[in-house]
Amino acid sequence: MDNDNNIDLSLLVPCYNEQDNLDYLFHKLTEVLDSLNIVYEIICINDGSKDNTLLKLIEYCMHNSDIKIINLSRNFGKEAAMTAGLDYAKGKAVIPIDADLQDPPELIKQFWFKWLEGYDVVYGVRIDRKGESWIKKMTSKYFYRFIGKISDTPIPEDTGDYRLMDQKVVQALKQMPERNRFMKGLFSWVGYKQTAIYFSREPRQSGKSRFNYWKLWNFAIDGITSFSSIPLKIWSYFGLIVSFLGLIYGSFLIIRTLISGVEVPGYASTIVTILFLGGIQLITLGILGEYTGRIYQEVKQRPIYLVQETYGFE
Ligand code: UDP
Ligand code: MG
Repeated sequence: MDNDNNIDLSLLVPCYNEQDNLDYLFHKLTEVLDSLNIVYEIICINDGSKDNTLLKLIEYCMHNSDIKIINLSRNFGKEAAMTAGLDYAKGKAVIPIDADLQDPPELIKQFWFKWLEGYDVVYGVRIDRKGESWIKKMTSKYFYRFIGKISDTPIPEDTGDYRLMDQKVVQALKQMPERNRFMKGLFSWVGYKQTAIYFSREPRQSGKSRFNYWKLWNFAIDGITSFSSIPLKIWSYFGLIVSFLGLIYGSFLIIRTLISGVEVPGYASTIVTILFLGGIQLITLGILGEYTGRIYQEVKQRPIYLVQETYGFE
């Protein structure tokens, strides 16, 4: 019998230094999954952890054939780790879930039942984020508003990676070759029959979040640049407006000089104009740089992740 083809559900758990969360994680996951009476696999992607995460995972894997491990060759980041998981997942449905249990495992049941109803994507929407600072809540709220406005693809607000996807959605995701994996955007770009489930996000079980503000900022820029080209385009309109105003002001100066002769004052307006336009030009150059840098990343066609070894797969 081909074991691969009767897996109903694949769980993807990216793990980066999560040794203290694993016991509770597997306890909760198996509890929920066993109550569903389905065939499942839990694929843990060790994303170059520096603690004993891998050893602990191997131990679990040896005693439980439902637990499988992909050990990446180094730390590639969560988005790459999830991509690796998607490539290995055999289930009819797939759910990525954080190892720190910030996404309540109980939701898996609701996801599953929605899938049985015929939905291809069931995504969790956070209505509350416990244990996160108001700055993080605020910034992420406005980020999702902003990107929702400028993105070519609508990206649902307050939605993380925690969701169920049908295998056909996974296949669609795999067709996207981009190196820069802004998963939330990719997830909604593919379309299909989607529905939402609302939940409140728990504080981290143990350890601390790897996403500091600098990383979040870069993450935000990744999201914006891969799903919108508006930042590239606004400058031509801005330039048009500025040139138009410049033309009016220039005509005014010429006429005034013709009427009342040459005047010396004007230092303030000159320096303000130079500084302002200089600043705008630098910003524009920077934005061009952001996009060009990403084009450079993409054309190199490097693999998104590298696997050192796997455990528990056939
Ligand atoms: N993670 C990962 N690689 C990384 C950073 C994080 O695989 O480089 C995993 C981490 O183990 C966890 C999930 O991604 O399972 C979410 O990470 P974290 O809790 O730090 O992020 P937050 O909840 O603050 O968004
Ligand atoms: Mg977390």
